[in-house]
Amino acid sequence: MTIHKTDEALGFIPLPGDAGKPITVVGTDAIRDSFDETCLQQAVNSRMAPGVTELVLNPDAHAGYGAPVGCVMISPTHIYPGPVGVDIKCSMSLLQLDIPEDAIKDKQTRRALIDAIIQRTPTGAGKGQRSVKKARHVDELIGVPAVTEGATQRVCQALGIPPEWAIRCEDSSHTGHDGTYDALRTRLEKILAEGRIRNFADKIGQLGSYGGGNHFGECEITKVTDRPWARETAKSFGMKDGHVSFLSHCGSRGFGNLLAQGQFRDLEHKFRTWSTPFPAGDKQLVYAPLGTPEADAYLDDMALGANFATVNHLLINALVLEAFQEVLPGAKGKLVYFISHNIAREEIHEGRKSWVHRKGATRAIPGGHFSLAGTPFEKTGHPILLPGNPRDGSVVMVARAGAERTAYSVNHGAGRRMGRKHAARTLDQVAVDADFDRDDILSNCRKYPIDEAPDAYKSFPEVLRSVESAGLAETVASLKARFVIKD
Ligand code: 5GP
Ligand code: MN
Ligand code: MN
Repeated sequence: MTIHKTDEALGFIPLPGDAGKPITVVGTDAIRDSFDETCLQQAVNSRMAPGVTELVLNPDAHAGYGAPVGCVMISPTHIYPGPVGVDIKCSMSLLQLDIPEDAIKDKQTRRALIDAIIQRTPTGAGKGQRSVKKARHVDELIGVPAVTEGATQRVCQALGIPPEWAIRCEDSSHTGHDGTYDALRTRLEKILAEGRIRNFADKIGQLGSYGGGNHFGECEITKVTDRPWARETAKSFGMKDGHVSFLSHCGSRGFGNLLAQGQFRDLEHKFRTWSTPFPAGDKQLVYAPLGTPEADAYLDDMALGANFATVNHLLINALVLEAFQEVLPGAKGKLVYFISHNIAREEIHEGRKSWVHRKGATRAIPGGHFSLAGTPFEKTGHPILLPGNPRDGSVVMVARAGAERTAYSVNHGAGRRMGRKHAARTLDQVAVDADFDRDDILSNCRKYPIDEAPDAYKSFPEVLRSVESAGLAETVASLKARFVIKD
């Protein structure tokens, strides 16, 4: 498939016939070469699917479930569960601590921090509060409001989350399809009665945990970009140059996964019953037209999963702060931001209310945009948290006016360059571990997971060059890894 280049890091894929706005592609030559045919075919299939009016392919794109991971898909009339994904509201959050970098220079302190964190926030598939010593106990009494309301004041208070962190969330609370929490309470009762969520108490007990795969917690040193605008922006975000910060990546765990899988199954079944063709023959692109009972049910399930992910992140940050305070008494910390990369949001797009599906993509709204009015970020734009890899670092960016071209979105990381099996076959474990030793980056894993090695991902510097060159966003600060917690 041909990508037509319009600029150093911008291009488009024309649609067959007269099918409307072409697919916008972000990426330099090297990045454009990184998209395989499956990824490009998925982009075209998703763009041509019913009700879809626009699609953006970001530099981190690679083949995903129906739609590429690393795309933005817009529809004013339809909702697509596949292009939200199995991990509803998988997100990033960043905690800034007031600890100077020298305080964690020695390995012993960092080892003590790793221990203190993993005693509170379990990692690994299926793991919850019961598998660690110092977790915060979450039962159904507070678990139900957590998933039906998200990070409301009472939920934060009950879980020991600083309530002022709620305004530092892209969305702290999700309501049901009709804008009420009642819809979510009703829906939760229904799905529990239907037995869709096996072991609900166990799933609730996973609040405050990372899970497996590429989810991680990473201790960083914040390095603010040495430019006056960046220093000012970083300061307003509460970031501190040369100080310790902590980046977290996780989503809605088993709860969100069951909700998403249940929706894929239900919709596939209905498509078959009604003999409705799957878009491009791909059942992963099942959809529901807005206003139908199917769309309502999906929007409610997505909101339940999203609330879980939100409370999960905030609780992890509270537990991480507590761990730092145990090792370094008196330490203080503030949430910089919490932002998702697997969610559909209703936004005004080109004057029309639309569902913007960001699948492995991050919202990127610049300062002065009406949708940030009344938030702490209305002048600067909100922080964009972009993980890269532990070796090349991660960044915090802010959007620029050019982000209008990409539906106010950027990538969500470096993006996979090779599949897990391919990585395990071709990368060298000894060399990967030697890299971490050389850079003095510690990990809780005896051997770093080979399928998660930095070289399993695309070049992060090239991805960032693409974003900056396309005028979408600029780097406010870099984050330099000091230790990584992974499964
Ligand atoms: P995803 O949400 O699609 O699973 O991936 C998010 C992004 O996180 C990846 O594209 C990758 O760039 C980044 N990433 C994965 N593992 C790590 C890690 O251990 N540390 C950092 N800083 N970034 C990572
Ligand atoms: Mn993710
Ligand atoms: Mn995830």
